[in-house]
Amino acid sequence: MHRSALFLDRDGVINVDRGYIHRSDQFEFVPGIFELARFWTNEPGRLIVHCPYHPLHGIGEYRRDHPWRKPNPGMILQAVSDLSLDPAQSVIVGDKMSDIEAGEAAGIGLRILVASRDAKVGEGAPSHEVVADLGEALALLRSRFAVTVADRPYEHP
Ligand SMILES: [Mg+2]
Repeated sequence: MHRSALFLDRDGVINVDRGYIHRSDQFEFVPGIFELARFWTNEPGRLIVHCPYHPLHGIGEYRRDHPWRKPNPGMILQAVSDLSLDPAQSVIVGDKMSDIEAGEAAGIGLRILVASRDAKVGEGAPSHEVVADLGEALALLRSRFAVTVADRPYEHP
């Protein structure tokens, strides 16, 4: 069985991007993120990974620039190696072209940009799908990836 991952950008994909968030009451999940994560991890061998580094807002040893930070593909390449992932069967979801570029550099098969459909994309940019929100991203994943385990709808706690 091959393994694959859903790489999620944080600000603007997991949480509403309000700049530097340092208190829990400032944190707001983007609608649809739990449904998206649930769909992906419901299948065996499908993982989600994250990057803790940030040059200003990382905590302790994580406060530094790092090859894992996008648009460097380092985090994705490390995850592919450590977790024996098939990058062609993996997905990255981001809200900036740097997310898409990192995914392309690492050979990620499906690159999804959450953005306005009229967002300007420079010439020579890597190919990607554009969705308006995470509900559309989920519909795209459902259309592209086989479901072998009964998909249970996410129930908010
Ligand atoms: Mg972002």
